[in-house]
Amino acid sequence: MDQRMNRETDPQIKEELLSAAREMATSGLVEGTAGNLSARLEDKRIVVTPASLDYAEMTASDLVVLDSTGNVLEGQRPPTTECALHLACLNLHADIGAVLHCHALFASMFAIIHAPIPCVVEEFDIYVGGDVPVADYRQTGSDALGEEVARHLGDRGAVLMANHGLVCVGKNSGDALRVARLVERTAQLVWGARLMGTPVPLPDSTRAHFAPLYKKLGRL
Ligand SMILES: [Zn+2]
Repeated sequence: MDQRMNRETDPQIKEELLSAAREMATSGLVEGTAGNLSARLEDKRIVVTPASLDYAEMTASDLVVLDSTGNVLEGQRPPTTECALHLACLNLHADIGAVLHCHALFASMFAIIHAPIPCVVEEFDIYVGGDVPVADYRQTGSDALGEEVARHLGDRGAVLMANHGLVCVGKNSGDALRVARLVERTAQLVWGARLMGTPVPLPDSTRAHFAPLYKKLGRL
């Protein structure tokens, strides 16, 4: 069941997804046509970005609407090759409304060494829910990759895909994009901080205070 509190119309959801897709590209979270997004529509349908199309040229008519098993219901273009990833995340977690996958530079560096991105700033706890875990490597585009990533999203807003990139989720496409930008910025902070010394964890009391807020503020 769709649990979004502020129900938007399908055209609004598609426009928001397009806007997030363009910003994902212009803010350097991906190169070229890499990366992909999805969002929940009414009646258990899902809208995804098409495969291999420049984000600057993409319009609502290029988007592809799927049912929950991946059958194409609307659209002339092939859907993203990471369809299985999006469907697995949205099907397993009824409390997320959108999924964004990107190849953000610093986050991907953590993914390549299979290292979680630690929760060292307070807003990370609130909007991500804790450290960003690493999902085991599975081949791109596979059902196995989708299953592996989705099972890490229970209480987190982001997951690293080993040797690949980043997946972020949120109430809507804009929220998923904001999580991606926060994760990438924090990955860069931690990368730089480790060059200067050893990052100091947040106090346990702070983690206990902020972490429960994630499910409340970040998902529904
Ligand atoms: Zn990718």
